[in-house]
Amino acid sequence: MDKQIILELSREFDSFYLYDEAVILRQAERLKRCFPSMAFLYSVKCNPNPRVLACLASQGFGADAASLAEVRQAELAGVPRKKILYSAPGKTRKDIAGVAEQGVLIADSLGEVDRIREEARRRGCTIPIGIRVNPEFTMDGCGGMPSKFGIDEDKALKLAAGELDGVKIVGLHVHVKSQVLDKDLLGDYFQNIFSLARRFQPLCPLEFLNLGSGIGIPYGAGDTELDLEALGETVETAAKAFRRQFPDTELYMETGRYVVCQAGVYCTKVLDRKESRARTYLILKNTLNGFLRPALAKVIAGCGKELGGVEPLFTCRDAVSFLALKEGEPERVTLAGNLCTAADVVAEDVLMPRLEEGDTVLMTNAGSYAAVLSPMQFSMQEPPVELYITASGKILL
Ligand SMILES: *Cc1c(COP(=O)(O)O)cnc(C)c1O
Repeated sequence: MDKQIILELSREFDSFYLYDEAVILRQAERLKRCFPSMAFLYSVKCNPNPRVLACLASQGFGADAASLAEVRQAELAGVPRKKILYSAPGKTRKDIAGVAEQGVLIADSLGEVDRIREEARRRGCTIPIGIRVNPEFTMDGCGGMPSKFGIDEDKALKLAAGELDGVKIVGLHVHVKSQVLDKDLLGDYFQNIFSLARRFQPLCPLEFLNLGSGIGIPYGAGDTELDLEALGETVETAAKAFRRQFPDTELYMETGRYVVCQAGVYCTKVLDRKESRARTYLILKNTLNGFLRPALAKVIAGCGKELGGVEPLFTCRDAVSFLALKEGEPERVTLAGNLCTAADVVAEDVLMPRLEEGDTVLMTNAGSYAAVLSPMQFSMQEPPVELYITASGKILL
């Protein structure tokens, strides 16, 4: 990102996110190139910014929505209703009634199927739905696991084979893991989903098959970039064979972070500089409360254990880099926030050029699971603003 632009913006704003459209377009293009048989759904929960959504809608992306509000946000951004898939556990009756016409409901449990049928009865119609399946396989090659998401595959097959008035199953959704960088694991996973879909096709002809996400990006020094071209070849071969057999089934892949994480940078200001017993502290505006992930990564690293299953709150210890706009002789500093908790520290003993009050610090990988995870109600601070820079260089609020 252009440092001059950030410098100018930081004269006006103390803390802000800046999303770069050129990066979003580049990432979206790359996905489309590697998976030509697929249509894409953008996972709104990672960044529901209206301009980000509109950009992806203009690239033909549908929406993977996780709440009624996300369904509406997607519709406002210009995503056609047919391409808004609402999948989340624990939908309320109000959510179900609200989405029945605005998007496609993906039922997450047998109880939810019943609640959708009640809604259909109330309306006197049949509601076409998808179901989320908890499959007999995992990303790591084990058999099925208990999960709070979806309907166990054996129960889902029974459901699809039975009498269902009020609803008609027209789609399947599977998603088991995010942030995978191993092309072989992902390749096997996607092939397993095509096999799963073949088990359902005779029971409920599918209008769509949503294969979920999983495509990761390199965050820290220990990450090797996913070989997207090689994965694309594996998936294309499987997808083409599937489509020859079932030409009427639309194939969706979901993606959140892949398209937007690297497009975002978080910028915030040094409010104070202080020394305490030979340690230099830079007190920054809105860290834990403005961009939660780096502060949380420090808390988790402090526990001394590697954690699994905590995406998107935590990916790895060094998922965010800290940069300055200024150059200069490096010094060791601790970057802390302005909240009244000792947990509000984002980096300890990092090398930064000497910074003073009013200087700006940048944090990378802030396009996904960043602004949305901010606990801004804590301590009633002034929140960061979100800015967007178009491919032609125009800054939009
Ligand atoms: C959050 C989520 C995604 C997006 O995951 P990314 O790792 O950001 O691509 C996709 N599908 C479902 C069901 C999700 O809950």
